[in-house]
Amino acid sequence: MNFQIKRVNFNFKLAHYYIVILILNNKSVNINGNKITYSVKKSNKAKYVRLKINLDGEIHLIVPRFVSISQAEELMFIKNKAILKNYQNIQNKLRKFYFLGNELKVVTGNNLRQSKTSLILDNKLLILNTNKVENIRKLYNDWLKKEAERYIPKRVEYFSGKAGFVYNKVVIRGQKNRWGSCSSNGTLSFNYKLMYFNNKIIDYVVVHELCHLKEMNHSKKFWKLVEAIMPDYKIHKHQLGLFLN
Ligand SMILES: [Zn+2]
Repeated sequence: MNFQIKRVNFNFKLAHYYIVILILNNKSVNINGNKITYSVKKSNKAKYVRLKINLDGEIHLIVPRFVSISQAEELMFIKNKAILKNYQNIQNKLRKFYFLGNELKVVTGNNLRQSKTSLILDNKLLILNTNKVENIRKLYNDWLKKEAERYIPKRVEYFSGKAGFVYNKVVIRGQKNRWGSCSSNGTLSFNYKLMYFNNKIIDYVVVHELCHLKEMNHSKKFWKLVEAIMPDYKIHKHQLGLFLN
């Protein structure tokens, strides 16, 4: 088991922040013959025990300061087996391939005339020219990031023009825990995995982060601002939330 103390991460400049004080990595539990690997995060901000799964499919057991790790493990893994089933479903979901709201079917092959690995999207078919299975996810992720770099900045420009927001720059990243963030210097960061979703959901995240330029919080005023730009934002916010639930 790896034991690691993580520096307290508390950045007031970010609209989304969290505190983690202790992390225990690579713990595992065997439930009905299935090995579940997880890490424990002791948090002084958390108010209750919960399981959290990130976009890389990693499971974290979040333990409040006043609960012991063994109590939390008992609660989640012995008393709450249904929760784990749900987490396995999420992990299955994360093994799939998506683009703009559609699940893609992946076909691999090795075209001898073309020695380089390549990727082509043909309707809902993702054609990968590779003979290494381990390359598939990387090829897909690299391609998705390029698509995001092409698509998301245009949407930011569109909505900032429409609502009169001034931002500094757009960065596309591969965050594990966030769809987007907004820093006090006006940098908007977006997760390239947003390209999994339909254009309305992507727009919702774009509008959400743009609104943080004016309101660095999730107050009523903030949500009013979001609603003024995207009146039906609640549907898309809900849809996005379902992905890891
Ligand atoms: Zn926010």
